[in-house]
Amino acid sequence: MSDVMIVTGASRGIGAATARIAGERGYAVCVNYRQDADAAAAVVADIEKAGSRAIAVAGDMSSEKDVLNLFETTDAELGTLKVLVNNAGIVDVQSRVEDLTLERLQRMFAINITGAFLCAREAVRRMSTGRGGSGGAIVNVSSAAARLGGPGEYVDYAASKGAMDTMTIGLAKEVAADGIRVNAVRPGLIYTDIHASGGEPGRVDRLKDGVPMKRGGSAEEVARVILWLASDEASYTTGSLVECSGGR
Ligand code: NAP
Repeated sequence: MSDVMIVTGASRGIGAATARIAGERGYAVCVNYRQDADAAAAVVADIEKAGSRAIAVAGDMSSEKDVLNLFETTDAELGTLKVLVNNAGIVDVQSRVEDLTLERLQRMFAINITGAFLCAREAVRRMSTGRGGSGGAIVNVSSAAARLGGPGEYVDYAASKGAMDTMTIGLAKEVAADGIRVNAVRPGLIYTDIHASGGEPGRVDRLKDGVPMKRGGSAEEVARVILWLASDEASYTTGSLVECSGGR
């Protein structure tokens, strides 16, 4: 039986790249998405073409009901969960802290950190050897912004990723003896649509000369780090925050 992986926010960008490579490597993949069913279906088709099983499940990861449905559907259709990739995440239009609204802050933290916690909870309930499970791995997609702070652009987003880093460290220690590894990857400037949703589609090209490697990264370069952290190749690695930022 192939190992089962859930990737949240997998209809495009880093999540889609992770789901596709996971399919190539033999995982049965649950492709979660929020609204773009056609894009999620295309990811599923590519995984099936690679010879692996895949399903697409719609759900807003800030909704507990949708999170529960995502995990229960995966249980029923793919089997025992081995890997959770907590990838779904948003930015908002570039703003200074003095201009942030309560509504924006609540949405940012609901999706980027509360949703990640709810998914981690469901994963631990299934994977923990202390609860009859067979162990597994959780990979959180954080951001270099957690240590850079996002000044003038999105300190709220950076803070949500800082919370994700702390969750990674604490949960890793909490469940290490239950057969579950928990790690995070911190991508830097990666070419995806997320920058357009922050109001600046060309953001990576504007900032890339400040990256020691002098270029932005690809979604696949991040995905390969995620796949490594998820795999038994990383069997003694837990509680780690792995940089994937060209040295930035
Ligand atoms: P992206 O291209 O904007 O894709 C985001 C994905 O998340 C989409 O599949 C989207 O689905 C989904 N999503 C958004 N809100 C969701 C929700 N509430 N519930 C479920 N799915 C949701 O972003 P990306 O650049 O690949 O980012 C992926 C992760 O990497 C994020 O956590 C981001 O913070 C992190 N990251 C990205 C960069 C970068 O430079 N790109 C750098 C550091 C960290 P729909 O299309 O259906 O809305």
